[in-house]
Amino acid sequence: MKRKTIRLAGMLLAVALLAGQAAPGALAATKGQLQQNVEDAQNAYDQAQQDLENQQQAVDNAQGQVDAIQGQIDSVQGQMNQVYDNLQQIGAQLAAAQQAQAQAEADLEAKQAEYDQTWQDTKGMMRALQKMHDGGSIALLSQATNLYELLSFSNVMGEVNDKCQSMLDELEQQASELDAQRQQAADAASQLAAAQEALQQQQDQLTTLQGQLSEAYQAADATLSSEQADLQAQQELTEAAKKKLDEAEAQLDAYVTSQNNQYTTPSIHCSLDFRCPLDSYSSITTQFGGSDPWGRGHNGTDFAAAGGTPIYAAADGVVSVATSHYSYGNYVQISHGTADDGKTYATLYAHMSRYVVSVGQTVTKGQVIGYVGNTGEVYGKYGGYHLHLELRVNGVRTNPLSYIPH
Ligand SMILES: [Zn+2]
Repeated sequence: MKRKTIRLAGMLLAVALLAGQAAPGALAATKGQLQQNVEDAQNAYDQAQQDLENQQQAVDNAQGQVDAIQGQIDSVQGQMNQVYDNLQQIGAQLAAAQQAQAQAEADLEAKQAEYDQTWQDTKGMMRALQKMHDGGSIALLSQATNLYELLSFSNVMGEVNDKCQSMLDELEQQASELDAQRQQAADAASQLAAAQEALQQQQDQLTTLQGQLSEAYQAADATLSSEQADLQAQQELTEAAKKKLDEAEAQLDAYVTSQNNQYTTPSIHCSLDFRCPLDSYSSITTQFGGSDPWGRGHNGTDFAAAGGTPIYAAADGVVSVATSHYSYGNYVQISHGTADDGKTYATLYAHMSRYVVSVGQTVTKGQVIGYVGNTGEVYGKYGGYHLHLELRVNGVRTNPLSYIPH
């Protein structure tokens, strides 16, 4: 088992060396290209995320429009309901007023007939009395037993006349009152009819407005659907960009690991006797596995320390990477070889102000390899001067603090 591993490692080394011999610049060019790929993919992903945010904003705006129009539609519907209720009320009031008007007219007509009848009766009676008085005066005179009777008859005539007159006056008075009532009922009915017409006009206007709002709603809803479709498309683009970034990072990572493997020869034995790469630091600001500004898991442990603080090799090994990276900044990777557990170990030190070792150089535990800086992507809560420390066990990133004293 172990022999096989050694043979495989030897073969890998041979292949790597062969590749190096065939084209000395090829490896460097490949690495630069891989880093460039990651950088391009990162930029494309950032842009896609920005576009996604903008598109989300467009969707929110469209949704706001739809909601606003819906609010207006609800308001108009409320007014329509109110107008409808008012129309119902006015309709009932108008019917009652019209009925009252008809009643008043009928009453007036009846009173008028009563007056006419009374007038006719009075005229007839007065005529009969007059006849009796004039034509029958001789008979009356002969029948009257005394002057008192004659005078009395004259008085009775006067009284009857007065009585009829006052009865007619009273009827006229009553008719006049009824006419006033009729007029009042007619006025009320006419006012209610006017109010009804105004409400009907309002109802027509609201119906028109409702139609316009319905059209506006349809347009806004279509816009919203279109913006949502664009958002969906942009989400897919962003996911694709993320995938591309992950792939580019994986390729770079595979490259770094293969570089590492070049120096993970059986001749280097890893004692697992690590030391803290800093003599002093102010605090551990981010743990391994915490979330970074891009929503990925944090690959290492961040030690906040003053700029220029010396960084030491955590253990004996060979420098497998010493370069500048858009994200890591100036960084160094050390292969520590294979431990007794059969696993390979490597450490990585990022964001250095500068490094003082070169690829292939053998370093010993505690040797200065560079200095704390803030190069590469250091911002947000990852900002400021700090050492980003990574540990790879068999090429897999592992929590450094599980092995390295701190
Ligand atoms: Zn970090």
